[in-house]
Amino acid sequence: MRDLLMIPGPVEFEPEVLQALALPTLGHTDPAFIAIFGRALKRLREVCLAPSAQPFVVSGSGTLAMELAVANLVEPGDAALVVNTGYFSDRMVKILERHGAKVTQVRAAPGDVPSSDEVETALAAGGFKLMTLTHVDTSTGVLAPVEGLVRAARKHGVLSVVDGVCATAGEAFHQDAWGADVYLTASQKAVGVPPGLALLTVGPLALEAWRKRKAPVASVYADWAEWLPIMEAYEAGKPAYFATPPVNLVYALDVSLGQILAEGMEARFARHRRVALAFRAAWKGLGLRLLPTSDAVASHLLSALYYPDGVDASFVGQVKAQGVVVAGGLHPDLKSRYFRVGHMNRTGPADLLATVGAVERALLAAGHRVEPGAGLAAAESALVAR
Ligand code: PMP
Repeated sequence: MRDLLMIPGPVEFEPEVLQALALPTLGHTDPAFIAIFGRALKRLREVCLAPSAQPFVVSGSGTLAMELAVANLVEPGDAALVVNTGYFSDRMVKILERHGAKVTQVRAAPGDVPSSDEVETALAAGGFKLMTLTHVDTSTGVLAPVEGLVRAARKHGVLSVVDGVCATAGEAFHQDAWGADVYLTASQKAVGVPPGLALLTVGPLALEAWRKRKAPVASVYADWAEWLPIMEAYEAGKPAYFATPPVNLVYALDVSLGQILAEGMEARFARHRRVALAFRAAWKGLGLRLLPTSDAVASHLLSALYYPDGVDASFVGQVKAQGVVVAGGLHPDLKSRYFRVGHMNRTGPADLLATVGAVERALLAAGHRVEPGAGLAAAESALVAR
């Protein structure tokens, strides 16, 4: 029997999206494929609420999306500010430094975000070309206060690069209205497509900064100069080639983005919030504690939860024995002390209750004292209260 996949990516996908992967592969310059690719690009722009941005769809994972942003904006010696909320912000530091940036970090303890005063003070110190932040840090489930941070960067004339790999199409984000310069993401989480696509929406100020750069981009595959004409051609309905696109993944992307837009962005953000609040109620009912230090900094797309006393990392296997796959810890400082449950893309009441039930049974099997049904009852109450 197939287990329910409730890790923070990849996630459960819609059958229509998976079916698109099995369609006959068209040539990448076939007019029918050009039309699909062009529509997917337009849809990506709409999903990111970024009418003024240039979308990029490139074969690769989220880490390539990070590199596609950094490699094109950073020149050796440029100063970059990293709002560091965990494991994936650390990865961003590594990529920035590899491309020659001088990095300053504003860090928070695991589970927390730096205060806006700290970020504001750092920005005011001046000299930064760009600031990066992780919308949702998947290692800790921390949600950054993105709107305030990108608005602050814009005020100080600093480009903002937002890693939305674990957030896009699930957490509220209004790229143009908030003034975020680059939103980068990947296919396998709330975007609803199996792993393999790096996605970017690049705003006009970031494109202008890239056009003004003097040093060549230190990678051919990551160079916007190679990809921009391709994306423009596909959107204009014309054939173009730089590197072979992942044809079937692009079909799947087009289907998923179409479904996301049909649900509506605000409705989709609200559904993820509603499901997250029901999960939080369930965890409370089971006596489990969230790793994020407050609800205000807790993501709506995953729950990172401390193991209760007497329960260790073997718990993830015990939940799997109950038919649901959850993930272990990832943040190096706390790895063995917590586990993570993803709740994004198509998670609704059915998967929510299946997951809470599996966690509850695994807790009981591990000898944890909990009233059978306590988590389920709390989740049910939260669901019907709204
Ligand atoms: N950033 C964040 C916030 C992520 O969650 C991940 C993947 N979990 C990445 C970047 C890297 O993406 P990938 O594993 O697809 O390279």
